[in-house]
Amino acid sequence: MQVFKFGGASVKDAENIKNAASILLQYKTSELLVVVSALNKTTNALQDVTDNYYGQDNDPFAVLDRIKTEHFDILHQLFSDPTHPIYNEVANCFVEIEWILEEEPQDSYDYLYDQIVSVGELLSSKILAAYCLQIGLPVQWIDARDYIVTDNTYREATVDWAITEAKIRKELPSILDDFIVITQGFIGSTSENFTTTLGREGSDYSAAIFASCLNVEDVTIWKDVPGVLNADPKWFAETELIPELSYTDAIELTYYGATVIHPKTIKPLQNKKIALNVRSFLHPEQPGTKIHTTNQTLPIPSFIFKVNQVLINIQPRDFSFIVEDNLSHIFNLFHIYRIKINMMHNSAISFSVSVDDSGENIDLLLSDLEKRYKANIERGLELITIRYYNQETIDRVLVNKKIIRELKDSYTCQMLVSNLNE
Ligand code: ASP
Ligand code: MG
Repeated sequence: MQVFKFGGASVKDAENIKNAASILLQYKTSELLVVVSALNKTTNALQDVTDNYYGQDNDPFAVLDRIKTEHFDILHQLFSDPTHPIYNEVANCFVEIEWILEEEPQDSYDYLYDQIVSVGELLSSKILAAYCLQIGLPVQWIDARDYIVTDNTYREATVDWAITEAKIRKELPSILDDFIVITQGFIGSTSENFTTTLGREGSDYSAAIFASCLNVEDVTIWKDVPGVLNADPKWFAETELIPELSYTDAIELTYYGATVIHPKTIKPLQNKKIALNVRSFLHPEQPGTKIHTTNQTLPIPSFIFKVNQVLINIQPRDFSFIVEDNLSHIFNLFHIYRIKINMMHNSAISFSVSVDDSGENIDLLLSDLEKRYKANIERGLELITIRYYNQETIDRVLVNKKIIRELKDSYTCQMLVSNLNE
């Protein structure tokens, strides 16, 4: 049994949906569950709908109409029969959102976000399933919310693995005997049947959840890159494909910010020794990268760049040291404002961290920190991580940069830098 995950880019338009279906056609005899993300950019656009509705400033319907047009344009290209039931199914998904928008917002932002944004995956999975049926593939669409059960931390829900596993194992194996199952990434549901989402880019994680509960042989994530590369092509003209990767290296790379796979994806697969392939949907004949149990360390140094970093420097107001009770208070504030620490540095009298610049949240955090500590920030920095570094790789990335903080262990070097040109 296998799990495939198609990301937003792999289903972004009619041509790509056809391409995804043609990949499925090659696997039609094996037991296969397919997890799909929303069409490219749809999640961001649905977030704009939520923001406009919640803020009551701009018209949420205008953005929604644009999303609708995009989806119906794709339908027209895929289904020539205007009475095909998919037209109604897609229209009904949009009606769900319109019902919400017609009322004054009463609920929390995070709750509304999940109810609105989750529709992106319902749409893409329905369209892909209908197209597969049209070309003769034996597929069955299922609602991931009937299987993935979470707590009610909207926008970042935690999966209840025991209930989820029981539900998946009870019903899905017999469906998978006869059909390719197509379902949504990113979404789940509380025990009271309210829709939740698992965090941005969470579809990879959904694939891992289904894979782990079904004990499949392997998972394949189909992407618009040839596999896991040693750096993002956005930063380096010459990148190299890493053909084979241990789970540990994959966890480390994604932890430090490699965006090729969602960081939560790997651990559940590692626990069950399920291999994870990252392959190109544009070149399905190529093997891509295989992440599995191997003693093979990364054959080449890997680089991860994170721009838009803020350095937050925290010092006690009195002459005390930074000790455990300060740290637990500080960490709790980061947790409350949902700010993820990318690098931290602790000395006797100060504690400093580098985080993504998420704007408003940082300002709120800062004003809370200032009640107890001296806190200052420096914006516009870059965090460079090199896994399996050496001096040559460090010199290579430091051209025109100044090091502000540096952390090294035997395998990984992290440098927070500012640009000398600015
Ligand atoms: N559509 C969601 C997002 O863009 C989930 C995903 O793509 O993995 O965050
Ligand atoms: Mg995505």
